[in-house]
Amino acid sequence: MIINLPNDFAYEAQGTSGYGYAYVDKERKKLILKGNISYSRVITKLMYDLNEHEICPYCGCRLSKATTTLDHCIPVDRGGPTIPENLIICCSNCNEEKGNMNKEEYLFYRTLKTNSEKIEYKKILEKFCTKTKMQKGCDIPNEWTIDPKEIDIFVSINFRENIKRSKKYQKVKKNYKKYGKLIYPVISDENGILLDGFYSLMYSKENNISDITIVKLDNVERRC
Ligand SMILES: [Zn+2]
Repeated sequence: MIINLPNDFAYEAQGTSGYGYAYVDKERKKLILKGNISYSRVITKLMYDLNEHEICPYCGCRLSKATTTLDHCIPVDRGGPTIPENLIICCSNCNEEKGNMNKEEYLFYRTLKTNSEKIEYKKILEKFCTKTKMQKGCDIPNEWTIDPKEIDIFVSINFRENIKRSKKYQKVKKNYKKYGKLIYPVISDENGILLDGFYSLMYSKENNISDITIVKLDNVERRC
């Protein structure tokens, strides 16, 4: 898929694992990531550049630096990827109240008048989410994904032994045991180089799981 990019964007970061930077190549209309830079941090930064709303799209309040948050329209826990198409800038109160609802569900939730209606709706949603996770794992539009058979994902990071003990790996494992599916998608650049979803990918490789959701970003390039 082609993700939405601003015309102008540049970002650099010095992290514990080294230096890296990202920018939008205007001529090729492509996001380039180079060196040691976190994909999700780049996208977060980029979202603030793309969205200059001053108003929360949910409640209409005026956003200030202190109250602005980044919301996954389809929540991370339901497989929502960190891509501009799935992100929205909103106020922290709405983000917190939205919790594990997707954007449409939350807009409906806001129309409910009484507390009992809200509680009832949340119960129905919870059942629905469990069922969806069991049926398909990751709950994202088909047009964002590609057939996992079409691509081999490359990981530049070495598989360390302690990865299996990490919280994120354990969460992927726990979900898989509970739902029989991988919930978090793997995001790759145009060449199949991994951008996000490292733990899902590692777990699928370790356990020979071919049923994995892959989002390939055709206008993003990760360079060493
Ligand atoms: Zn709000």
